[in-house]
Amino acid sequence: MGVMESFVPEDSADTFVITEDSIAAPAGIDAALLDEASIPAGAAADGDFAPLRRWPRAITELYYAEIVQRIYREEHFLFLLGLLMCLATIGVDVIVNPGMATEGAVLRVLVVAPLTLLGLFAGARGWSRILAFCVGAAPISFIAVIVHLAVHLPPDLAPRYLLATVLVVGLANVILPYSLRGLVIFDLSALLVTAAMLLMEGPETLAAHADMVLIFALVVAATLPVAARFEKLRQRNFLLTLRARIFSRELLKANRALHALSQTDPLTGIANRRGFEEEFETAIRAPGNEGRGSDLIALMMIDLDYFKSFNDAHGHQAGDSCLKLVADALIDNCENAGAIVARYGGEEFVAAMRTRDRDAVMAAAEKMRQSIANVLSPARDSDRPMVTASIGVAIAPASAMLPREELIEMADAALYSGKDGGRNRVEVVEAEMAFGNRP
Ligand code: GH3
Ligand code: MG
Ligand code: MG
Repeated sequence: MGVMESFVPEDSADTFVITEDSIAAPAGIDAALLDEASIPAGAAADGDFAPLRRWPRAITELYYAEIVQRIYREEHFLFLLGLLMCLATIGVDVIVNPGMATEGAVLRVLVVAPLTLLGLFAGARGWSRILAFCVGAAPISFIAVIVHLAVHLPPDLAPRYLLATVLVVGLANVILPYSLRGLVIFDLSALLVTAAMLLMEGPETLAAHADMVLIFALVVAATLPVAARFEKLRQRNFLLTLRARIFSRELLKANRALHALSQTDPLTGIANRRGFEEEFETAIRAPGNEGRGSDLIALMMIDLDYFKSFNDAHGHQAGDSCLKLVADALIDNCENAGAIVARYGGEEFVAAMRTRDRDAVMAAAEKMRQSIANVLSPARDSDRPMVTASIGVAIAPASAMLPREELIEMADAALYSGKDGGRNRVEVVEAEMAFGNRP
């Protein structure tokens, strides 16, 4: 079990998958944390960095999670290669050691092949721990089979077989997707299995093959530094990529914030005209919805009455505060009516909704008019509201697919008719009327 534990740390992200967001660095890992891993910003390819054990835990965990990902990517190739090697050596037995060829074949098919197939299956099911175990256990079981055959061979043939175990370990050290720690545990396990199996035949067997155990140890000693170097390069690559990912996450965040800012009116905090245009197209006239038979689309232009006079009388600051109060009142109303609202510009607001009920549109517009009239209490010597609005409503069947600009034109026409009619009122223009009677 040591092998798999060595590269799948506790609560490692088994579920680490590459999504749009994982291209950017995961939340919680920022440039300051990365600096603790001592990768200097813009580090040169051969710049130095801290050893893995000094990295912050979150970064180490991500690194190990990515090793698991690498194993998923490589396991198919490795297991198939291992299976082929294992089956090919049955042929070697037939030539070199025909007496034990059947036993060798049975052992390979019953021990090595199942571990390999289990590894393939675990990889396909996403069982990372079993997969990691099989990546190491399959070659070690292969080594065990070779040692078992070797000890029952004539003394002149045995060393040739034992040499194969050395080859397996040397190759594994270069190609197995383990961390260095994982490889050390793998090598020690392989060495122990080999030595123990020789010892089980008697101390003299172990002594007779001590040279082979020594060569085994030498090959491990020679290939581990190569593996260590590979891992160092992997770590550097990981840290540099992580820095780029953190940078891209910051960019993504800044981009989203800018986008939101570009759609928000700074004075009132509600959407601006640009935000309205986008939301209208996506939320109100969403493509594909046009087919819903009796849906209506309503667009309302809301213009404060005599607002220039309000400013003249109370000052521009008071005018600004009034605009904020109007925006708050409109937001409340629109949320209730399922409508969207925005500041269109100056003292003009725009709202839109989709409904099947024409009366609901008129009721919503009337409520908006009333709530604006209630935003400020009338002056002491008057019962007229301090601020009122005229509202022009355009209603069209969703299926007519009228362009937004046309709805705005219709609502504007209704608005001006409201202004002409004495202000503080709601006027409506409906598409059929507009088509039939517009001058
Ligand atoms: P009408 O009833 O015909 O709409 O009259 P009005 O005075 O509201 O219309 P007009 O278009 O002549 O004036 C709009 C005024 O709105 C002019 C400007 O002082 C005021 N206004 C526009 N934007 C702002 C703003 O951001 N803050 C303040 N305080 N006033 C604004
Ligand atoms: Mg105006
Ligand atoms: Mg006005």
